[in-house]
Amino acid sequence: MLPALPTSRQAHAVRRRLLGWFDRQARDLPWRRVRDPYAIWVAEVMLQQTQVASVIPFFQRFLKRFPTIEELAAADLSDVLRLWAGLGYYHRARHLHAAAKILAEDFVGTLPSLPEDFARLPGVGRYTLGAVYSQAFDCRLPVVDGNVQRVLARLSCCAVPLTNQKARAWLWQYAAALLPRKRVGDFNQALMELGQTVCTPTQPSCGHCPLKTICLAFQSGKEKDLPRSGPRPKPTPVSEVAVLAQQAGRFLVVQRPDHGRWPGFWEFPHAPLTPGETAFDAARRLFRTLTGQPTKSLCHLGSIKYQVTRFQVRLEAVLLQPGPGRVPLTVRQRWLTLVEMSQFPLARPQQRLRALAQQWLDDKKKPKAEPWGTPPEQS
Ligand code: SF4
Repeated sequence: MLPALPTSRQAHAVRRRLLGWFDRQARDLPWRRVRDPYAIWVAEVMLQQTQVASVIPFFQRFLKRFPTIEELAAADLSDVLRLWAGLGYYHRARHLHAAAKILAEDFVGTLPSLPEDFARLPGVGRYTLGAVYSQAFDCRLPVVDGNVQRVLARLSCCAVPLTNQKARAWLWQYAAALLPRKRVGDFNQALMELGQTVCTPTQPSCGHCPLKTICLAFQSGKEKDLPRSGPRPKPTPVSEVAVLAQQAGRFLVVQRPDHGRWPGFWEFPHAPLTPGETAFDAARRLFRTLTGQPTKSLCHLGSIKYQVTRFQVRLEAVLLQPGPGRVPLTVRQRWLTLVEMSQFPLARPQQRLRALAQQWLDDKKKPKAEPWGTPPEQS
């Protein structure tokens, strides 16, 4: 059963302790130094599913390149995606860019005065709305992210798994019931910061927590048992080959479709292995399918592993030299040097492949070049 919402007295105690703690302990973060609603918006979008320390350099580079909504709106999407490369979840950058265009056109390049107008922009959900408008305009809107969920589940000793839909809706009600009348943005930031720095997932520092005297989980010794989560599905293993087709110092790259994961990004061609197929066979097949050309020689450069959604991918990087003949290209295929590739938006796994190719080129320059290798073992 879900716990009761906080009484006004309990809510007052939480606000007083948390804001006092925030006044003493708030971290000095770049987006806290500027009171610019646009900068707060960019920071909040970047911070979704990403650690504060990882966001800081991206935020600074982004604001330097696009200091206003108008400048972001006028930019080419590929420039925006390139600056975002490495931060992941690229739909955030596409939405930010699309929303900036609407704001430049309909709101003279500013954030709308009505939160409901902001809520209609691409990529703006309940969390973004609350985070931006509470900090930028002190609107009385709650925020609930993963950190806030954990703090509130412990504070209230909620034993219902947070995968439960009703529990998630209840958390929003709980967060709204705690909000102060003033300093709403500070309160929301304090709640998130407590979850990031004190009320951490496995080792909460309850001894240093401003809420320790009123936290029901800590009072009953259950802080490490909460919050509960439902069973997680195991990731599905996938084996793929990536073809690093190379001739005259350039590599064949292809552009992804404009929808789906990493839309419009560039990459070395890659595809799943079919049952019983070796990485070399798959590389030959993929290259012939893409270009109609035969393969002259192959070399295994290495393997990389990464997780994407529910898939655990093992990618075999195969260097391929095309057979004789001219390789025809479509509009979404190019031969690029590795330096030229760095000017295009590349997803993180593709950046790692590019690094493998760079290593191979560097090794080639050494007095004794690496010999062509043998096929990798199939997993
Ligand atoms: Fe989290 Fe412990 Fe603070 Fe409770 S007392 S909110 S469990 S850090």
